[in-house]
Amino acid sequence: MAQEKKKEKDMKAAVFYEPGVVKVQDWPDPQVSGDEVLIRVMASGVCGTDLHIFDGAKGASECYPPVVLGHEFSGVVEAVGPDVKGVKIGDHVTVDPNRGCGVCPDCQAGNPHFCKDMFATGVGGDGGFAQLAKAREEQVYQIRKDIPFEQAAMSEPLACCLHGIDQAQIKTGDTVLIIGGGTIGLLMVQLAKMAGAATIILSEPLENKHELGRKVGADYCINPMKTTPFELIEKEGIARIDVSIECVGRTNTMQDALTYVSRGGHVLFFGLTPPDAEILLKPYEVFQKELMITSSFVNPHTQGRAAGLVNSGKLLLSELISERLSLDEMTKAFEIRGRNGKMMVFPNGLPECGA
Ligand SMILES: [Zn+2]
Ligand SMILES: [Zn+2]
Repeated sequence: MAQEKKKEKDMKAAVFYEPGVVKVQDWPDPQVSGDEVLIRVMASGVCGTDLHIFDGAKGASECYPPVVLGHEFSGVVEAVGPDVKGVKIGDHVTVDPNRGCGVCPDCQAGNPHFCKDMFATGVGGDGGFAQLAKAREEQVYQIRKDIPFEQAAMSEPLACCLHGIDQAQIKTGDTVLIIGGGTIGLLMVQLAKMAGAATIILSEPLENKHELGRKVGADYCINPMKTTPFELIEKEGIARIDVSIECVGRTNTMQDALTYVSRGGHVLFFGLTPPDAEILLKPYEVFQKELMITSSFVNPHTQGRAAGLVNSGKLLLSELISERLSLDEMTKAFEIRGRNGKMMVFPNGLPECGA
């Protein structure tokens, strides 16, 4: 009898054991105490980081298997610890997975993402590829109840893109080149537009992605194998490219971001390269073009704005989702690899009509 009772308290989760090994199995329900919130996970996005960890590479923070991956999730609050102040049972929420220690010099300087003890839900501790997950109240953000959970789960990648957009310092009226039309590139197109870009050029070799690129707000979609940004701006009479944003993570596209931006331009390296990747940088070119080269690491202080954007309903988010999977199909996600767009896992059952 006691045995049976225990079994009832085991949820289902996709557990990462070692590179190449993820098992969908029973796993103990998370127990909440103090300021912790228990969330029934309704949607959980598969991030490039999850695939990197699956392949044996390092994420943004330490991973200690066996662990439930998944750091881009949303759901319904199922229980709260005694010290939780504002979050209530039944609230729809999303989670900022990253939490600094709060006391180191970087955290005290307001840069929790530089904390060397940064904890990430779904990397360092159990995350969202499970029926239940927990987070501290400080990590939890409210989502309107009429917003589909899959859109709410996009808050985390959106928060990362927002930090990037802030770093890129787009000015109203700028022309922005976005390299790469994957999920991140398509979020960047939308955020660049909101940040004031007058003209957005999306460079993406897969032409079947161009239609969606235009739908989310790109003025021009080019196939870099056929047309260079130089040829396009010449043909269209565009004066210059003020900002280039690399969203691929390859050395040749990083190089392109430097090449195509105009004098006085800003370059944002957003895509994640392998740790040992190198590019050729000509200091004279940086000097002559007076380039500002910047980058962006995770999502410091942007999760609230991301949740606000999701709640506004002003972004096209469901359109970016290419695969909707049940938890049992989770291992498939590591085979499909999200080549066509965002993969979304629904640990408590697939939604009835794409939401
Ligand atoms: Zn992510
Ligand atoms: Zn710290």
